[in-house]
Amino acid sequence: MKYDVVVIGGGVVGLATAYHLAKKGIKGAVFEKGYVGCGSTTRSASRFRVHFWSEENTRFAIESRKRMLSLAKMTKWNPLPITGGYLWVIYDEDVMRAYKTNNDTLWSKLGVAGRLMEREEVKEMYPYLNLEGVIGAFYGPQDGQVHHDFVTYGYCSAAMRNGFEVYEGADVQSIMVSGSSVAGVSVNGKVVEAKKVVVCAGAWSNNILSSAGVQLPMVPERKELCVTEPFKRRIEPLIINTKRNFYVGQSIRGEIMGSVEYPEVRGFVELRNTLKWAARFSRALVEMIPSLRYARMMRMWSGYYEVTPDHSHILGRDPDWPDGLYVGTGFSGHGFMMAPFAGEVLADYVAEDRVHPLMKPYLPTRFKEGREIKETMVIG
Ligand SMILES: Cc1cc2nc3c(=O)[nH]c(=O)nc-3n(C[C@H](O)[C@H](O)[C@H](O)COP(=O)(O)OP(=O)(O)OC[C@H]3O[C@@H](n4cnc5c(N)ncnc54)[C@H](O)[C@@H]3O)c2cc1C
Repeated sequence: MKYDVVVIGGGVVGLATAYHLAKKGIKGAVFEKGYVGCGSTTRSASRFRVHFWSEENTRFAIESRKRMLSLAKMTKWNPLPITGGYLWVIYDEDVMRAYKTNNDTLWSKLGVAGRLMEREEVKEMYPYLNLEGVIGAFYGPQDGQVHHDFVTYGYCSAAMRNGFEVYEGADVQSIMVSGSSVAGVSVNGKVVEAKKVVVCAGAWSNNILSSAGVQLPMVPERKELCVTEPFKRRIEPLIINTKRNFYVGQSIRGEIMGSVEYPEVRGFVELRNTLKWAARFSRALVEMIPSLRYARMMRMWSGYYEVTPDHSHILGRDPDWPDGLYVGTGFSGHGFMMAPFAGEVLADYVAEDRVHPLMKPYLPTRFKEGREIKETMVIG
């Protein structure tokens, strides 16, 4: 087999990149070691937002949201978007001031709507919330959710319709380098020639990059999530408790879905769930929404955030790497929402050597050049 471009990883980022490469007429293939979406993509909470603490991520997310909302037209799969907003519940004057400052100096400048709410207004709008200790909230109306399967399968089928091949059960064991350039990959013991290789292997990216002598500053961090039985839809926004770093919302099916930050569990620890996490989540949930005291947990799962030192993704290549090697990874808990724009700009770069101005800050060279992005708004 011989391709212009091979994409390693059939998560949302690899598939979005493949779709945009395919649209440009590039002959390529995606190799996925499990099945499409089996990594972090279909383990995510499927949420998107435009509010980030850094200007770079806010701008990137604005573009990605636009594409997420028009995906149905592009892929012919309707991802069922709901823009119920995000509500950050605030307990501390300093936190309130920080939201006010970012709203006045960054978000409103970029045309991102959002407003601070007094405690009384929060009480009126969201009577089911326990507001003990709460001083107010910040509401972002454009933020929302989609169905991750329809986004993922949409990109996959649209990439294939446009001529890309997608292989499941295709474990890439190494990247082959000849002289100073990539020459292809070894897949399930077979050689596949390729002029360019794009590593979109999520938390596992370093495992495969090491075969080409490359390592990114990135670690996997296990996160747990659960859903309850479904209820009539009542919780419109995603509610984020800024004191406990706990979030809860209602899925498209009506399930109560959420997570709570738990002491960091780093590395490739087993993807399972813990009673300690479930107990902490249940306590946080009932404290925030007491009426959910008798809601039953139906399903729990875990997945990896692929975390970089500045909690921002890594796109493109470093000129010191073998020619033809690219990455799209390190999304630090935001990969699902960033994928629509990330796939587009990464494909432009791979196919046409064009660096979109909004992609430039995410080049891997930023770490050695001391140009890290200051992102602290990580949820979960
Ligand atoms: C609990 C949880 C909740 C989250 N919630 C959100 C959210 O609400 N919003 C949001 O934007 N993000 C969220 N995220 C983050 C988001 O899921 C990820 O950032 C995103 O899915 C990353 O996509 P990806 O395509 O880069 O990686 P992945 O989806 O992990 O895909 C990488 C793929 O590469 C494959 N692979 C690995 N090694 C090889 C190899 N050697 N050969 C072939 N294939 C290989 C894997 O099998 C995998 O399918 C959440 C994550 C978790 C864990």
